[in-house]
Amino acid sequence: MTDKMRIKLDRTLCDGFGICARHAPEYFSLDDWGYAVLVGDGNIPDADRDAVQRALMDCPVHAILQIGERRPDEKPIQPVREPDLEHLKTEDNEAEWGFTR
Ligand code: SF4
Repeated sequence: MTDKMRIKLDRTLCDGFGICARHAPEYFSLDDWGYAVLVGDGNIPDADRDAVQRALMDCPVHAILQIGERRPDEKPIQPVREPDLEHLKTEDNEAEWGFTR
């Protein structure tokens, strides 16, 4: 079926609206100041996926993140190529500055 859902909570982003704890109280609780705390290890069983997904979508500051797991059949990530600085032409493409009277 679907991949297992894993989430993490970035508490530095949380603004304490409490929406997550309302949608999925088994996975989010609020501390004494009203900020969210993740309950458990972030692994979400399929049965609770919709409630947690709703909490994720409704969080106004996007503090709840779904952790993507790479599947074994996915292509490996290609390395980023650096630009060829040795052969970078600058004479022809420099901006010309002038003053008008
Ligand atoms: S919904 Fe978002 S901002 Fe609100 S308590 Fe949960 S994590 Fe924090």
